[in-house]
Parts: sequence; C-alpha cells; structure tokens
Amino acid sequence: MGKPRVAIFDFACCEGCQLQIVNLEEDILGLLGLVQPVEWREALSDRSDEYDIAIVEGSITRAEDEERLRGIRKRAKLLIALGACATIGGVNKLKNACDMEDVRRYVYGRAAAMPHLATEPTRALDEVVKVDYKIHGCPVSRRELGAVVRSLAMGVEPVIPNYPVCVECKLRETVCRYEYNEVCLGVVTRGGCNAPCPAGGGWCYGCRGLVDDPNVNAARDVMDKYGRTPADLQRRLALFNSPGAVSCPKS
Ligand code: SF4
Ligand code: SF4
Repeated sequence: MGKPRVAIFDFACCEGCQLQIVNLEEDILGLLGLVQPVEWREALSDRSDEYDIAIVEGSITRAEDEERLRGIRKRAKLLIALGACATIGGVNKLKNACDMEDVRRYVYGRAAAMPHLATEPTRALDEVVKVDYKIHGCPVSRRELGAVVRSLAMGVEPVIPNYPVCVECKLRETVCRYEYNEVCLGVVTRGGCNAPCPAGGGWCYGCRGLVDDPNVNAARDVMDKYGRTPADLQRRLALFNSPGAVSCPKS
C-alpha cells in the first residue's frame, strides 16, 4: 500500500496552526516518510483533488466556505479538524453573540457593503460536515499533531485526550493559579497540551474546548475553596467557549 495522500486546507483563521506544521522542522522529514502531501497552499505549488486525508484549519463564516468544505469532505476518506478555529469555532465565534451587520461595519467600515465581505455566524467544521479527528488548541501542539498523523499513517487509532488540563498540571507539579487568586479554566478544559500556560505563569484560556462531560461538581468545589463563583468561570469562558458573554460593537 502506498503512502496516504494528504491535503491541507484553510478557512477563516490566522494560519498559526499550519505554521505549527512548518515548525515541526526535522520531525517533518519523518512524517514525509509516512505520508505524501499533495496539496498545501502555504507550502506547495501542487494541487490535487485526490487525497485520503484532509487536514482542515479554520472555521466556516461564509456560504461559499460551506460549499467548499462539503466538497473537501466528499473527496477525503478522513477529515481532521486542525486547531481551535476548526474544532470549536475558536475566537472567530466571539462575533456570534452580535448582529452580523454591526460586526461587518465595525471591521470593514465604509467598505462593509462590498459583497465579498459578507459574513455569517461562525461554525466549527463539525457543525457542517462529519469530522473524524480533532487536533485541539490555539495553536495546536506540534507533538500532538505529529502523533495523530503518525498514528493514522500506520493505521492506528489516534488517542485524543479526554481529561482536564489539571491532570497535566499536577503531573508537572505546577502550583495552581487559584493559589495566586486567579481564575483558570483548566478544571473544565480538555488536556493534551501538557499544561504550558499555567507552567508559564498564566491561566488556561480553554482553547482546547471543554472536556467531554466536564466534572461540574469538582469545578464547583474549586470555586468554593478559593472564594470564586461560576460567573467568574463563565467570564473566562467567553474567549473560546461561551461567546454569549461578550459586549458587541455598535455601528
Ligand atoms: S486555532 Fe489559533 S493559532 Fe490556529 S488558526 Fe485558529 S487562531 Fe490561529
Ligand atoms: S486550575 Fe489551572 S492552574 Fe490549577 S491545576 Fe488546573 S489547570 Fe493547573
């Protein structure tokens, strides 16, 4: 059997997750021994409609995005959502709490009426098509990205973590941010990143989305222990997981 043919596509995003692929540096040579890239706008001039695995970055914010994504899905045997924009809508979803016309005018000013600047509420990929695997994070972790691609190339089911970030924080023996009177989303956020934000002196922003079935009772216990409220957690969730909590621009 030949190497799986891989195509990489992007929708609305900053392309930072694709950059993580470029940043794999020498590891990329190992991956190239396992898969054959056939389309990748950021790094290849070739393009092809024949691929086994589509890796898709970015979220869906226009009618034409939806049509294009459906075409990619039809051609791919497996579709991987790459990064928070693709897996949960990412920061692009902040606009969903607002009036789309206000958002459009706020961003584009007098040019807002131009037809190619039309915008719709943001959707993650799995709100439009079936997604087989998700590589979480903003940006994704290079280690996790390499592990998923290697597993798929070898016909092994990739393991996508489903435990909270706190687990990795404890393993690293990082002092909890609540001890510093901060609010951290690691209690409800999917781990797998190795908790770099708390280890670096920050709190978890929740960029990997919520763990399946978050332990709400444990989160409540943490809030009680440190004199915090669920509203504190909700405010922090606004960036990646609860766009309803933002204040909207008015044109
Ligand atoms: S998930 Fe973050 S780093 Fe990746 S494309 Fe979206 S905004 Fe950029
Ligand atoms: S709440 Fe944040 S800082 Fe505390 S253990 Fe969990 S992830 Fe680490």
